Amino acid sequence: MQYRELGKTGMMVSRVGLGGENVTKASYEITRDLVNAADEGGLNIIDAFMPQPEVRSHFGQALDGRRERFIIQGHLGSILKNGQYFRTREVRDSEEYLKDFLTRFRTDYIDVGVIHYVDTDEDFDKVFSTEFITFAQKLKQDGVIRALGVSSHNPITAKKIAETGIIDVILFSINPAYDLLPVETTVGEYMSGKAYADTKPMILDPRRGEFYRTCVERGVGITVMKTFAAGRLLNAESSPFGYALTPHQCMSYALDRPGVASVLVGARTAEEMRASLAYEEATPEEKDYSKIFLHSGGELEQNRCMYCNHCLPCPKNIDVADVTKYADILEETGDSDSIRAHYAALNAHGSDCINCGACEKRCPFQVPVRKNMAKAAKLFGY
Ligand code: SF4
Ligand code: SF4
Repeated sequence: MQYRELGKTGMMVSRVGLGGENVTKASYEITRDLVNAADEGGLNIIDAFMPQPEVRSHFGQALDGRRERFIIQGHLGSILKNGQYFRTREVRDSEEYLKDFLTRFRTDYIDVGVIHYVDTDEDFDKVFSTEFITFAQKLKQDGVIRALGVSSHNPITAKKIAETGIIDVILFSINPAYDLLPVETTVGEYMSGKAYADTKPMILDPRRGEFYRTCVERGVGITVMKTFAAGRLLNAESSPFGYALTPHQCMSYALDRPGVASVLVGARTAEEMRASLAYEEATPEEKDYSKIFLHSGGELEQNRCMYCNHCLPCPKNIDVADVTKYADILEETGDSDSIRAHYAALNAHGSDCINCGACEKRCPFQVPVRKNMAKAAKLFGY
């Protein structure tokens, strides 16, 4: 298993994580077997937004004796009302469900406390201009949560959240289907087939890329939900690309977005968990998602690198994706010590490029790599 830094939290998370929502109605035995499979595969991050008491108790029992090995994302503001899931900004209700979470998970802290579901300006104000954010920050001060997160599906709102400077982690929906839709798309529209009918030609909205790169610049870690677009992408009939993608292609796409630390896949059984963990052994060909765009008449941001590194190997050992990514961020967000530090830590830099052009022949997206290496060398000075 490969592990990645979760922004600036100091936590290292497995790049394949578990989203717990699919076992909401499962028995304890199924949950335990799933956690066993995750643990055996080196997975160490679990998202648990579910307010239902049974699923919380099942996870608590399954994690007993090994809780320290896991980074748990628990949600603030996800509660039950009249027996049904409900999103709230009431501090008292959130406190009650937080206590319930800690008790049932048999722990006294949550690694990442995620303010649940902030998608619009109105949602943003209801959290960041009210006592709700004070409540969440106090939990962090008191060590009840180690890091403060927010979940969102909207890149404009999520960028605004990253820019507050007080959020450590954003749980965000990332997959190639959502990335095709305008940033104004609502969750309901993401789920509806109709939204995809107007996506011809398929163009990635550059404002999504801006959000991802802002997270890198600000040191905000991204964990990913909806990696398979709720299964839409795995089915030829519902995929907007006209054919079914594999889980590994979807996971690879999400993991290549800047700032992403872990994709949280929603396994229902131990077998499904192991299938997702097999990502670690998958070949580059099995993970290659370039045909998604190339075979669908898709268009990318003009000359924009996808940070996929399909263009390697490079005779000068340049990590083309990382060099390009840091140059893009510096160009877009202005000078930044942290981005300069990331760039400095790379083994080779833009100035090491000998202009052989081998990478450009391999890049599926016709990115002018040599030009990008020269841009990086100019921006960073080497
Ligand atoms: S230059 Fe092309 S192949 Fe290389 S990382 Fe960028 S998009 Fe991928
Ligand atoms: S053109 Fe530069 S970046 Fe591309 S393979 Fe050659 S040396 Fe590496």
